[in-house]
Amino acid sequence: MAIDSHGRTIDYLRISVTDRCNLRCLYCMPEEGVPFKPHATMLTLEEIARFARIAAGEGFTRIRLTGGEPLVRLGIADLVRDISRIPGIERVAMTTNGILLPQMAEELREAGLSRVNISLDTLDPEQFTQITRWGNIEDVFAGIDAALAVGFKPVKINAVVVRRLHQDLLAFAQLSLDRPLHVRFIEYMPVGSSSGFAGAGWTASDTIPNEELIALIERAAAEAGLGPLLPLDAAARPEGWGPARYYQFEGALGTLGFISALSRHFCGECNRLRMTAEGRLRPCLFSDREFDAHDALRSGTDEDVRLVLREALSAKPDEHHNRRGTERLMSQIGG
Ligand code: SAM
Ligand code: SF4
Repeated sequence: MAIDSHGRTIDYLRISVTDRCNLRCLYCMPEEGVPFKPHATMLTLEEIARFARIAAGEGFTRIRLTGGEPLVRLGIADLVRDISRIPGIERVAMTTNGILLPQMAEELREAGLSRVNISLDTLDPEQFTQITRWGNIEDVFAGIDAALAVGFKPVKINAVVVRRLHQDLLAFAQLSLDRPLHVRFIEYMPVGSSSGFAGAGWTASDTIPNEELIALIERAAAEAGLGPLLPLDAAARPEGWGPARYYQFEGALGTLGFISALSRHFCGECNRLRMTAEGRLRPCLFSDREFDAHDALRSGTDEDVRLVLREALSAKPDEHHNRRGTERLMSQIGG
């Protein structure tokens, strides 16, 4: 079992498989895009799978593939298959914008992917195109349908809430009513350039603290004649609930989750390590401190890789100490 220097069990690995994306969300990537890293500096699928195997040997049991957009990485289903067969890996999940799910969901499910988080920040088609700079919301709706149809369980919808976007939060909450969709509201986080996170010129006042968000949704729900939000106890939470507070409308098939990395940080429960597509290990989302596993993965022994992994684990800070801004963009870290 991997225990960090603050006594936390670290068993959850988030791997960014690419820094490329088929969208350009305002808060994640600058409009002009980012200079993508040359392919040769990216880990190959074999190197990623090798890292996963070594991590499994160190006690990691859960892996999430992210990006950029993981579904634009060629051979992603093969990677899912390889990782899901590693002894000790209990589940492989993915965070995706969902655009390519209609054509890929079945193959991914068959390859061993068990769950997906689909990112969607608005239900309004025009606002969706504005936020993603060119996306078509119908593609994401089709992706959600495909995810439910092939039986990913649970299917979570991740919505980043940004004050100045004035998203219709109640409409989102209502997504949880008649389908088993777990809608999670995510606090906008200061990742990316410290002065205007992803180059979009937004500031910390755009983050709506979870307490305020819950109150806003409760008020809108009451005005619409929907029942109160019922807090869920641990046993009723969706599998793999993670660091969120969960609620449910009475009789709803899905749930609502509130993830507050800032206003009520969950560093004390942190169980994760991140790896970028180039093989850099990040002990903390909010810190630019990285440990480079690339060379060890390309030409070193398993023991060389293990040493870098252990070094990164021992460097996990006790908490993020409200750091603001990182050199890497979220699209390079994977969320
Ligand atoms: N492309 C995939 C997607 O959008 O799901 C995976 C990568 S994306 C970077 C992972 C998650 O990070 C998405 O849910 C996205 O909305 C979220 N994200 C990006 N920038 C963020 C920010 N500044 N604060 C909070 N969440 C952010
Ligand atoms: Fe791409 Fe995901 Fe970032 Fe949007 S949030 S630009 S879909 S990586």
